[in-house]
Amino acid sequence: MPQFELRSQMTQLAGELAEAAERVTRSGWFILGPELEAFEGRFAEWCGTAHAIGVGSGTDALELALRAAGIGAGDEVITVSHTFIATAIAITAVGAIPVFAEVDPADGLMDAASAASLVSRRTRAIVPVHLYGRCADMDPILELAQAHGLRVIEDAAQAHGARYQGRHAGSIGDLGCFSFYPTKNLGALGDAGAVTTDDPALAEAVRKLRNYGQTRKYHHESSGRNSRLDELQAALLAVKLDHLAAFNDQRRAICARYRSTIEASDSIGLLTCELLSDVVHQCVVITPRRDELQHFLHGRGIGTQIHYPIPCHRQTVMSGLANAPLPVTERLAQEVLSLPMYPELTDAQIDHVCEALTDWSSR
Ligand SMILES: *Cc1c(COP(=O)(O)O)cnc(C)c1O
Repeated sequence: MPQFELRSQMTQLAGELAEAAERVTRSGWFILGPELEAFEGRFAEWCGTAHAIGVGSGTDALELALRAAGIGAGDEVITVSHTFIATAIAITAVGAIPVFAEVDPADGLMDAASAASLVSRRTRAIVPVHLYGRCADMDPILELAQAHGLRVIEDAAQAHGARYQGRHAGSIGDLGCFSFYPTKNLGALGDAGAVTTDDPALAEAVRKLRNYGQTRKYHHESSGRNSRLDELQAALLAVKLDHLAAFNDQRRAICARYRSTIEASDSIGLLTCELLSDVVHQCVVITPRRDELQHFLHGRGIGTQIHYPIPCHRQTVMSGLANAPLPVTERLAQEVLSLPMYPELTDAQIDHVCEALTDWSSR
Protein backbone atom coordinates (compact mmCIF):
# COMPACT_ATOMS: atom_id res chain seq x y z
CA MET A 1 0.00 0.00 0.00
CA PRO A 2 1.22 3.53 -0.68
CA GLN A 3 1.84 6.00 2.17
CA PHE A 4 -0.87 8.16 0.63
CA GLU A 5 -3.32 7.89 -2.23
CA LEU A 6 -6.32 9.82 -3.48
CA ARG A 7 -7.94 7.57 -6.04
CA SER A 8 -10.38 5.78 -3.75
CA GLN A 9 -11.60 9.05 -2.21
CA MET A 10 -11.93 10.65 -5.65
CA THR A 11 -13.92 7.68 -6.92
CA GLN A 12 -16.19 7.87 -3.89
CA LEU A 13 -16.84 11.61 -4.42
CA ALA A 14 -16.78 11.64 -8.24
CA GLY A 15 -20.54 12.10 -8.66
CA GLU A 16 -20.81 15.04 -6.25
CA LEU A 17 -17.67 16.68 -7.65
CA ALA A 18 -18.88 16.33 -11.25
CA GLU A 19 -22.18 17.97 -10.31
CA ALA A 20 -20.35 20.94 -8.76
CA ALA A 21 -18.01 21.23 -11.75
CA GLU A 22 -20.94 21.20 -14.14
CA ARG A 23 -22.68 23.95 -12.17
CA VAL A 24 -19.61 26.17 -12.45
CA THR A 25 -19.07 25.32 -16.12
CA ARG A 26 -22.63 26.26 -17.03
CA SER A 27 -22.49 29.46 -14.96
CA GLY A 28 -19.82 30.92 -17.23
CA TRP A 29 -18.26 32.70 -14.19
CA PHE A 30 -14.84 31.48 -13.09
CA ILE A 31 -13.02 34.02 -10.91
CA LEU A 32 -14.21 35.85 -7.76
CA GLY A 33 -17.85 34.84 -7.80
CA PRO A 34 -20.58 33.21 -5.73
CA GLU A 35 -18.86 29.81 -5.34
CA LEU A 36 -15.82 31.42 -3.73
CA GLU A 37 -17.94 33.62 -1.52
CA ALA A 38 -19.99 30.61 -0.36
CA PHE A 39 -16.90 28.51 0.31
CA GLU A 40 -15.13 31.34 2.15
CA GLY A 41 -18.18 31.79 4.38
CA ARG A 42 -18.39 28.11 5.19
CA PHE A 43 -14.67 27.68 5.75
CA ALA A 44 -14.58 30.70 8.08
CA GLU A 45 -17.45 29.17 10.04
CA TRP A 46 -15.60 25.84 10.14
CA CYS A 47 -12.52 27.57 11.59
CA GLY A 48 -14.50 29.81 13.92
CA THR A 49 -13.19 33.03 12.37
CA ALA A 50 -15.02 36.07 11.06
CA HIS A 51 -13.23 35.91 7.69
CA ALA A 52 -11.66 33.44 5.29
CA ILE A 53 -10.04 34.68 2.10
CA GLY A 54 -9.34 32.18 -0.68
CA VAL A 55 -5.94 32.47 -2.34
CA GLY A 56 -3.87 30.54 -4.88
CA SER A 57 -1.95 28.20 -2.53
CA GLY A 58 -0.79 27.67 1.02
CA THR A 59 2.51 29.35 0.22
CA ASP A 60 0.62 32.39 -1.07
CA ALA A 61 -1.57 32.33 2.04
CA LEU A 62 1.56 32.66 4.20
CA GLU A 63 3.13 35.32 2.00
CA LEU A 64 -0.02 37.45 1.75
CA ALA A 65 -0.68 37.08 5.49
CA LEU A 66 2.85 38.30 6.26
CA ARG A 67 2.42 41.24 3.86
CA ALA A 68 -0.99 42.09 5.31
CA ALA A 69 0.58 42.12 8.77
CA GLY A 70 3.13 44.63 7.49
CA ILE A 71 6.11 42.27 7.62
CA GLY A 72 8.79 43.20 5.09
CA ALA A 73 12.43 43.84 4.33
CA GLY A 74 14.80 43.28 7.23
CA ASP A 75 12.14 42.15 9.69
CA GLU A 76 12.81 38.97 11.63
CA VAL A 77 10.16 36.27 11.81
CA ILE A 78 10.55 33.43 14.31
CA THR A 79 9.43 30.08 12.95
CA VAL A 80 10.63 26.46 13.01
CA SER A 81 13.05 24.60 10.77
CA HIS A 82 11.21 21.29 11.23
CA THR A 83 8.55 22.07 8.61
CA PHE A 84 7.92 22.04 4.89
CA ILE A 85 10.16 24.57 3.13
CA ALA A 86 7.17 26.73 2.09
CA THR A 87 6.95 28.17 5.61
CA ALA A 88 10.47 29.61 5.33
CA ILE A 89 10.20 30.54 1.65
CA ALA A 90 7.13 32.69 2.29
CA ILE A 91 9.10 34.62 4.91
CA THR A 92 12.05 35.26 2.62
CA ALA A 93 9.65 36.13 -0.24
CA VAL A 94 8.50 39.23 1.65
CA GLY A 95 12.12 40.20 2.32
CA ALA A 96 12.03 39.13 5.96
CA ILE A 97 14.53 36.89 7.75
CA PRO A 98 13.42 33.52 9.13
CA VAL A 99 14.84 32.84 12.59
CA PHE A 100 14.50 29.16 13.42
CA ALA A 101 13.38 28.10 16.88
CA GLU A 102 13.89 24.61 18.28
CA VAL A 103 11.02 22.15 18.48
CA ASP A 104 9.65 20.02 21.30
CA PRO A 105 11.04 16.47 20.93
CA ALA A 106 7.70 14.98 22.02
CA ASP A 107 5.62 16.35 19.14
CA GLY A 108 8.03 18.15 16.80
CA LEU A 109 6.26 21.52 17.22
CA MET A 110 7.60 24.97 18.16
CA ASP A 111 9.29 25.16 21.56
CA ALA A 112 8.05 28.49 22.96
CA ALA A 113 11.04 28.86 25.32
CA SER A 114 13.40 28.56 22.37
CA ALA A 115 11.31 31.10 20.44
CA ALA A 116 11.49 33.47 23.42
CA SER A 117 15.28 33.24 23.46
CA LEU A 118 15.40 34.43 19.84
CA VAL A 119 13.36 37.63 20.15
CA SER A 120 15.43 40.63 19.05
CA ARG A 121 14.75 44.30 18.36
CA ARG A 122 13.98 43.35 14.75
CA THR A 123 11.50 40.55 15.51
CA ARG A 124 8.05 41.36 14.13
CA ALA A 125 6.15 38.07 13.99
CA ILE A 126 6.01 34.43 15.07
CA VAL A 127 4.93 31.71 12.65
CA PRO A 128 4.22 28.48 14.56
CA VAL A 129 3.51 25.47 12.35
CA HIS A 130 0.72 23.04 13.29
CA LEU A 131 2.67 20.20 11.72
CA TYR A 132 1.18 16.72 11.25
CA GLY A 133 -2.32 17.96 12.17
CA ARG A 134 -1.55 19.01 15.74
CA CYS A 135 -1.60 22.58 17.07
CA ALA A 136 1.60 23.99 18.51
CA ASP A 137 1.40 24.92 22.20
CA MET A 138 -0.10 28.35 21.50
CA ASP A 139 -0.62 29.92 24.95
CA PRO A 140 3.07 30.62 25.68
CA ILE A 141 3.53 31.73 22.06
CA LEU A 142 0.63 34.18 22.37
CA GLU A 143 2.03 35.46 25.66
CA LEU A 144 5.43 35.98 24.09
CA ALA A 145 3.83 37.84 21.18
CA GLN A 146 1.80 39.99 23.55
CA ALA A 147 4.87 40.87 25.62
CA HIS A 148 6.84 42.04 22.57
CA GLY A 149 4.08 43.36 20.31
CA LEU A 150 4.54 40.61 17.69
CA ARG A 151 2.04 39.28 15.17
CA VAL A 152 1.20 35.58 15.34
CA ILE A 153 0.60 33.93 11.96
CA GLU A 154 -0.36 30.26 12.16
CA ASP A 155 0.85 27.89 9.46
CA ALA A 156 -2.21 25.63 9.56
CA ALA A 157 -1.54 24.01 6.17
CA GLN A 158 -1.71 20.54 7.78
CA ALA A 159 -4.30 21.26 10.44
CA HIS A 160 -7.80 21.82 9.00
CA GLY A 161 -10.05 21.27 12.00
CA ALA A 162 -7.36 20.76 14.64
CA ARG A 163 -8.12 22.35 18.00
CA TYR A 164 -6.13 23.87 20.81
CA GLN A 165 -8.02 24.23 24.09
CA GLY A 166 -11.29 24.46 22.22
CA ARG A 167 -10.08 26.98 19.62
CA HIS A 168 -9.66 25.93 16.00
CA ALA A 169 -6.38 26.10 14.10
CA GLY A 170 -6.39 29.34 12.15
CA SER A 171 -8.43 31.19 14.77
CA ILE A 172 -5.81 31.40 17.52
CA GLY A 173 -3.28 33.93 16.20
CA ASP A 174 -3.83 37.14 14.21
CA LEU A 175 -3.98 35.23 10.94
CA GLY A 176 -4.23 31.56 9.94
CA CYS A 177 -2.83 30.13 6.71
CA PHE A 178 -4.25 27.03 5.03
CA SER A 179 -3.21 24.99 2.03
CA PHE A 180 -5.70 22.99 -0.03
CA TYR A 181 -2.98 21.14 -1.92
CA PRO A 182 -4.54 17.81 -2.95
CA THR A 183 -2.82 15.74 -0.24
CA LYS A 184 -3.86 17.94 2.71
CA ASN A 185 -6.75 16.95 5.00
CA LEU A 186 -8.93 19.26 2.89
CA GLY A 187 -7.54 19.19 -0.63
CA ALA A 188 -8.65 20.79 -3.89
CA LEU A 189 -8.25 19.18 -7.31
CA GLY A 190 -5.31 21.49 -7.90
CA ASP A 191 -3.57 24.28 -5.98
CA ALA A 192 -5.51 26.48 -3.55
CA GLY A 193 -5.22 28.06 -0.11
CA ALA A 194 -6.91 30.41 2.34
CA VAL A 195 -6.13 32.98 5.01
CA THR A 196 -8.37 33.20 8.08
CA THR A 197 -8.68 36.08 10.53
CA ASP A 198 -11.08 37.84 12.88
CA ASP A 199 -9.59 41.24 12.09
CA PRO A 200 -11.58 43.06 9.36
CA ALA A 201 -8.63 45.29 8.42
CA LEU A 202 -6.30 42.31 7.95
CA ALA A 203 -9.01 40.50 5.95
CA GLU A 204 -9.42 43.53 3.71
CA ALA A 205 -5.66 43.79 3.24
CA VAL A 206 -5.42 40.12 2.13
CA ARG A 207 -8.41 40.59 -0.19
CA LYS A 208 -6.68 43.51 -1.87
CA LEU A 209 -3.29 41.79 -2.06
CA ARG A 210 -4.70 38.72 -3.82
CA ASN A 211 -6.37 40.89 -6.48
CA TYR A 212 -3.70 43.32 -7.79
CA GLY A 213 -4.10 45.66 -4.82
CA GLN A 214 -7.45 46.66 -6.23
CA THR A 215 -9.86 48.65 -4.03
CA ARG A 216 -12.52 48.91 -6.72
CA LYS A 217 -12.30 48.02 -10.37
CA TYR A 218 -9.21 49.65 -11.95
CA HIS A 219 -8.36 51.57 -8.76
CA HIS A 220 -4.99 50.60 -7.26
CA GLU A 221 -3.69 52.42 -4.21
CA SER A 222 -1.30 49.72 -3.05
CA SER A 223 0.66 46.87 -4.57
CA GLY A 224 -0.67 43.35 -4.91
CA ARG A 225 -0.73 40.40 -7.23
CA ASN A 226 -2.92 37.74 -8.72
CA SER A 227 -3.47 34.93 -6.22
CA ARG A 228 -7.08 33.84 -6.18
CA LEU A 229 -8.94 30.65 -5.42
CA ASP A 230 -11.02 30.10 -8.55
CA GLU A 231 -14.73 29.28 -8.72
CA LEU A 232 -14.17 25.71 -9.84
CA GLN A 233 -11.82 24.84 -6.97
CA ALA A 234 -14.08 26.65 -4.50
CA ALA A 235 -17.07 24.57 -5.61
CA LEU A 236 -15.05 21.34 -5.40
CA LEU A 237 -13.68 22.29 -1.98
CA ALA A 238 -17.22 22.98 -0.73
CA VAL A 239 -18.15 19.40 -1.65
CA LYS A 240 -15.14 18.02 0.20
CA LEU A 241 -15.65 20.29 3.21
CA ASP A 242 -18.93 18.42 3.84
CA HIS A 243 -16.89 15.25 4.35
CA LEU A 244 -13.95 16.74 6.25
CA ALA A 245 -15.18 15.96 9.76
CA ALA A 246 -15.80 12.32 8.84
CA PHE A 247 -12.44 12.03 7.07
CA ASN A 248 -10.66 13.51 10.09
CA ASP A 249 -12.45 11.01 12.34
CA GLN A 250 -11.25 8.17 10.14
CA ARG A 251 -7.68 9.44 10.39
CA ARG A 252 -7.99 9.48 14.18
CA ALA A 253 -9.36 5.96 14.24
CA ILE A 254 -6.45 4.71 12.15
CA CYS A 255 -3.99 6.53 14.41
CA ALA A 256 -5.58 4.94 17.48
CA ARG A 257 -4.97 1.48 16.06
CA TYR A 258 -1.37 2.22 15.09
CA ARG A 259 -0.86 3.68 18.53
CA SER A 260 -1.92 0.62 20.48
CA THR A 261 0.62 -1.41 18.51
CA ILE A 262 3.40 1.14 18.89
CA GLU A 263 2.81 1.51 22.63
CA ALA A 264 3.62 -2.18 22.98
CA SER A 265 6.97 -1.71 21.23
CA ASP A 266 10.25 -0.85 22.97
CA SER A 267 12.05 0.18 19.83
CA ILE A 268 9.55 2.51 18.11
CA GLY A 269 8.11 5.70 19.56
CA LEU A 270 5.21 7.82 18.38
CA LEU A 271 5.16 11.61 18.27
CA THR A 272 2.51 12.95 20.64
CA CYS A 273 -0.94 12.97 19.14
CA GLU A 274 -4.17 13.76 21.02
CA LEU A 275 -7.08 12.05 19.34
CA LEU A 276 -9.61 14.51 20.79
CA SER A 277 -7.97 17.61 19.32
CA ASP A 278 -5.60 16.64 16.49
CA VAL A 279 -6.55 15.83 12.91
CA VAL A 280 -3.66 13.40 12.20
CA HIS A 281 -2.42 14.76 8.89
CA GLN A 282 0.42 12.33 9.46
CA CYS A 283 0.97 9.55 11.98
CA VAL A 284 4.68 9.83 12.71
CA VAL A 285 6.81 7.17 14.39
CA ILE A 286 10.30 7.85 15.64
CA THR A 287 13.27 5.54 15.93
CA PRO A 288 17.06 5.90 15.67
CA ARG A 289 16.89 2.96 13.23
CA ARG A 290 14.50 4.83 10.95
CA ASP A 291 16.08 3.91 7.60
CA GLU A 292 16.15 0.26 8.63
CA LEU A 293 12.46 0.37 9.62
CA GLN A 294 11.54 2.10 6.37
CA HIS A 295 13.37 -0.59 4.40
CA PHE A 296 11.69 -3.36 6.42
CA LEU A 297 8.21 -1.92 5.86
CA HIS A 298 8.96 -1.45 2.18
CA GLY A 299 9.78 -5.17 2.03
CA ARG A 300 6.29 -5.87 3.39
CA GLY A 301 4.72 -3.71 0.68
CA ILE A 302 4.11 -0.77 3.02
CA GLY A 303 4.90 2.71 1.75
CA THR A 304 6.21 5.36 4.15
CA GLN A 305 7.54 8.91 3.79
CA ILE A 306 9.91 11.15 5.71
CA HIS A 307 8.44 14.52 6.70
CA TYR A 308 11.02 16.03 6.37
CA PRO A 309 14.48 14.61 5.68
CA ILE A 310 16.31 17.98 5.51
CA PRO A 311 15.39 20.77 7.95
CA CYS A 312 14.88 24.23 6.41
CA HIS A 313 18.07 25.65 7.92
CA ARG A 314 20.07 22.91 6.16
CA GLN A 315 18.57 23.67 2.76
CA THR A 316 20.89 25.37 0.28
CA VAL A 317 18.34 28.09 -0.33
CA MET A 318 18.53 29.11 3.36
CA SER A 319 22.32 28.80 3.63
CA GLY A 320 22.94 32.52 4.11
CA LEU A 321 21.21 32.54 7.50
CA ALA A 322 22.92 32.38 10.86
CA ASN A 323 21.04 30.25 13.36
CA ALA A 324 21.43 28.79 16.80
CA PRO A 325 22.18 25.05 16.96
CA LEU A 326 19.03 22.97 16.53
CA PRO A 327 19.89 19.48 17.83
CA VAL A 328 16.28 18.30 18.30
CA THR A 329 15.33 19.46 14.80
CA GLU A 330 18.36 17.67 13.36
CA ARG A 331 17.59 14.46 15.24
CA LEU A 332 13.95 14.43 14.15
CA ALA A 333 15.01 14.75 10.51
CA GLN A 334 17.04 11.55 11.06
CA GLU A 335 14.41 9.64 13.04
CA VAL A 336 10.86 10.44 11.89
CA LEU A 337 8.85 8.18 9.60
CA SER A 338 5.26 8.75 8.46
CA LEU A 339 3.09 5.63 8.30
CA PRO A 340 0.39 5.12 5.65
CA MET A 341 -2.32 7.70 6.42
CA TYR A 342 -5.46 8.43 4.45
CA PRO A 343 -9.09 8.01 5.47
CA GLU A 344 -9.79 5.16 3.03
CA LEU A 345 -7.22 2.71 4.48
CA THR A 346 -9.00 -0.61 5.01
CA ASP A 347 -9.02 -2.64 8.23
CA ALA A 348 -6.89 -5.28 6.52
CA GLN A 349 -4.32 -2.68 5.47
CA ILE A 350 -4.14 -1.19 8.97
CA ASP A 351 -3.74 -4.69 10.46
CA HIS A 352 -0.98 -5.40 7.97
CA VAL A 353 0.93 -2.26 9.07
CA CYS A 354 0.44 -3.10 12.77
CA GLU A 355 1.65 -6.66 12.23
CA ALA A 356 4.75 -5.46 10.41
CA LEU A 357 5.54 -2.97 13.19
CA THR A 358 5.17 -5.72 15.80
CA ASP A 359 7.37 -8.09 13.81
CA TRP A 360 10.07 -5.45 13.40
CA SER A 361 10.02 -4.61 17.10
CA SER A 362 10.26 -8.23 18.23
CA ARG A 363 13.11 -9.21 15.96
C1 LIG B 1 1.69 22.26 2.19
C2 LIG B 1 2.32 23.18 3.15
C3 LIG B 1 2.56 24.52 2.83
C4 LIG B 1 2.41 25.09 1.46
O1 LIG B 1 1.17 24.91 0.86
P1 LIG B 1 1.05 24.89 -0.74
O2 LIG B 1 -0.41 24.91 -0.96
O3 LIG B 1 1.71 23.63 -1.20
O4 LIG B 1 1.73 26.10 -1.26
C5 LIG B 1 3.05 25.35 3.83
N1 LIG B 1 3.32 24.88 5.06
C6 LIG B 1 3.13 23.60 5.39
C7 LIG B 1 3.43 23.15 6.79
C8 LIG B 1 2.64 22.69 4.44
O5 LIG B 1 2.47 21.41 4.78
